[in-house]
Amino acid sequence: MTMSADLIELDGSQGEGGGQVLRSALTLSMITGQPFRIANIRANRAKPGLMRQHLVAVQAAASVCGADVPQAAVGARELEFRPGKIRGGSYSFAIGSAGSCTLVLQTLLPALLFADAPSTVTVSGGTHNPKAPPAHFLERSYGRVMARMGADIAIELRRHGFYPAGGGEIVARVQPCAQLRRIALMSPGARRNSYAESLVAGVPSRVAQRELECVAAGMGWSGSQLHERRLAEEEGPGNVLLITLDSEQVTEVFAAFGEKSVRAEEVARLALGDVRRYLASGAAVGEHLADQLLLPMALAGGGSFTLDRVSQHALTNADVIGRFLPVAIRFDAGERHSTCTISAR
Ligand code: AMP
Repeated sequence: MTMSADLIELDGSQGEGGGQVLRSALTLSMITGQPFRIANIRANRAKPGLMRQHLVAVQAAASVCGADVPQAAVGARELEFRPGKIRGGSYSFAIGSAGSCTLVLQTLLPALLFADAPSTVTVSGGTHNPKAPPAHFLERSYGRVMARMGADIAIELRRHGFYPAGGGEIVARVQPCAQLRRIALMSPGARRNSYAESLVAGVPSRVAQRELECVAAGMGWSGSQLHERRLAEEEGPGNVLLITLDSEQVTEVFAAFGEKSVRAEEVARLALGDVRRYLASGAAVGEHLADQLLLPMALAGGGSFTLDRVSQHALTNADVIGRFLPVAIRFDAGERHSTCTISAR
């Protein structure tokens, strides 16, 4: 990645090479007013270039800050983005496929904190997609940390949407916030609550029961911690197993998705594997929340947290953030977990 005087040049094939480079660049460009150009968008993915959900993220960012994006189209591998002023208001974006609503919101929410007025954003598409934050994660996990940092963001899941049908809807309400607070999340603190939910829409109840039986056996949890949530058939077909660990300092939500020809026991095994790794690490923050916290903490001018695993996503995000904001982001490996420190540079 090289930097020119006014336009930040990004290479989308660097590091993790997915949609994260683009999304973080859009958010930070809106907030800092710095234009950017990105080449090789999602170069490391099976279908490179902008997919529907990335295109909607670009268009959504453009409409929130009055940018013009003539190059933005499905499949585009390059984009130039010149932001205007962020305007609060009422926005509605339809992905028109099962593309992730939460990734579009991940792009917009931090920027709308810096708007001139409150905002209401409605996004339709997928709400529970593999490889994206489930709506419950956005609300319980990301939302809780943002609230601790002083952000007033309310997430309402109106309708579930699963891959490939989509059709879900999330409404986010955001109040402007003068300055995010610095926080340190060094340990999760005492556990307040822990529970598992299996959501089934147009999928037999037995699938949920088998997933929950595996969680009961694996975690030693009992009836009141195990919930089958039967959704309206037309919200499906879809199944997700969510395991929530609500601790004094932080809430983590682990997800695994049911798929045709994947056994319920395998879905539970995947979710439990992530939970065990997190618990064994003693870290406050899991892999996904970690990459998502970097940007708000950098906007706050600093912060720190312990994390169970330093992912390529986190390293790539740190790299992009450093191009827009005067912060240094360090990851120090410890015996059981790593520590991330964000400071002014
Ligand atoms: P990308 O692969 O570049 O499109 O980025 C995916 C984003 O989704 C990253 O911010 C990940 O942290 C996030 N993500 C993926 N899976 C999960 C999950 N199970 N829970 C929470 N966030 C997730």
